[in-house]
Amino acid sequence: MKANELIPIMHAIAARIEKEKDFLTELDNVIGDGDHGINMARGFKVVETKIDGLATPADVFKVVGMTLVSTVGGASGPLYGTAFMKLAQSLMGKEEITLGDFLPAFRAAIDGISMRGRSHQGEKTMLDAMIPAAEAMEAANAEGKSAKEALDAGVAAAWAGVEITKTYAATKGRASYVGDRSIGHQDPGATSFTQMLEEVAGGIA
Ligand code: ADP
Ligand code: MG
Repeated sequence: MKANELIPIMHAIAARIEKEKDFLTELDNVIGDGDHGINMARGFKVVETKIDGLATPADVFKVVGMTLVSTVGGASGPLYGTAFMKLAQSLMGKEEITLGDFLPAFRAAIDGISMRGRSHQGEKTMLDAMIPAAEAMEAANAEGKSAKEALDAGVAAAWAGVEITKTYAATKGRASYVGDRSIGHQDPGATSFTQMLEEVAGGIA
């Protein structure tokens, strides 16, 4: 994938987040402060004005990351921002990226979130969708599946991860303040991540 294929996918992500804004905010209303959809939509609206014409995938990810850090409030802005900047660092200098390039970059993004958020799988955060997605995509890649097949497997695993976030209370982020009242509700960040990954899968030939 080259930058000219990645940029339309970023626009598709921005459109999806705008469409899901109210749903994400509703999810965050139940267990947080009800700003996740608004935060993310604000950030991606600015992203859309900054990415056209960029030369490499790393340039795109870097601009997305810096824009999210500076425009998305709350916990999710710095965390998603860090993730996109880690993708950029890992993919720097490549005109075109393959699934084999993307998978370790995605792991670096997960590690970046985990370090910055001091968070791990099982705490009802975006990591609960991201880590299963990484595992599924790596398994598909090891079996020689195409990028499209791997991404589809990643999306399915991420949605399964979102479902699992309903089964326990949050122990990280604002949702941890509501304690056991967060049980039964899916995590907003895990949901927004999965929606974004679904747009990536949908945008791959
Ligand atoms: P805030 O919680 O500050 O209002 P948002 O509502 O935009 O920020 O984002 C909330 C989402 O951020 C949560 O649903 C969760 O997925 C994610 N999140 C919060 N804290 C952490 C953390 N320490 N590590 C990973 N993800 C986190
Ligand atoms: Mg919030």
